[in-house]
Amino acid sequence: MKLCRFNDNRLGLVEDQWVIDVTTALSRLPTASYPLPCFDLLIANLDEVRVGIETLSGRAKIPLDEVTLLSPVANPGKLVAAPVNYQAHLDETIADEVTFSREHVRRIQETGLFLKATSSMIGAGAPIEIHHPDRRTDHEIELGVVIGKTCKDVHPDDALSVIAGYTIGLDITIRGPEERSLRKSLDSYSVLGPWLVTADEFGNPADRDLELKVNGETRQKANTRDLILDVPALIAFASSYYTLHPGDVLYTGTPEGVGPIAPGDTIAASIVGIGKMQVNVIAR
Ligand code: MN
Repeated sequence: MKLCRFNDNRLGLVEDQWVIDVTTALSRLPTASYPLPCFDLLIANLDEVRVGIETLSGRAKIPLDEVTLLSPVANPGKLVAAPVNYQAHLDETIADEVTFSREHVRRIQETGLFLKATSSMIGAGAPIEIHHPDRRTDHEIELGVVIGKTCKDVHPDDALSVIAGYTIGLDITIRGPEERSLRKSLDSYSVLGPWLVTADEFGNPADRDLELKVNGETRQKANTRDLILDVPALIAFASSYYTLHPGDVLYTGTPEGVGPIAPGDTIAASIVGIGKMQVNVIAR
């Protein structure tokens, strides 16, 4: 099942080039009161909402290209991200000392993970707003993993069972010496979209082609089989430090080919089994 959020917080089922409005299925969510939960209510109750979606009838159908896509997860508690998790990307950072600050060129096993601010998150329908045009700002395409259950100390053999679904992540990044959490958490620098593909539909994430184009030119083209820490290893690693909650998103790392973006550019990002999204870049 492909689920999107669109327009004014509508819930949609994506089928081919259509979005079926299934917002009424959200009535199955438990009501929350203050203090609101620090996880995503929809992702935590995804199975129940899916039952609601399957029993709906007479649903409005909207052409996909007429909706504004929001992030498929509304309220992630955290965005966990993997730095330099493809060998060929590590190699390109080693080779270019001008662009990639030396303090960040290390193996992921030494660097560990980092967090991106949830306030930086947008969906595919919103533009990336370049904040510091004087500094190099790069695209990074990544497989995004949406956690479905509260979990801690997950064994790699059990890791796929805690996943609600998958999405495409763009980890937009200013290059430079500062901490990653600063350079990668500007407003609009964490794109998620175009929708969530549920884990049962997506299958095993171990062998997925991903591709990113800027203005029609291919910049990144790779396969998740080349991840240094694969998805189960990343979940085991992350959950040995953080409790993971429903709706937490794991950016799994970007492959080689990262490069600068500028206002006026259009990014097209695709992952086999999820789909494609197009995101515009503008000046802030
Ligand atoms: Mn990244």
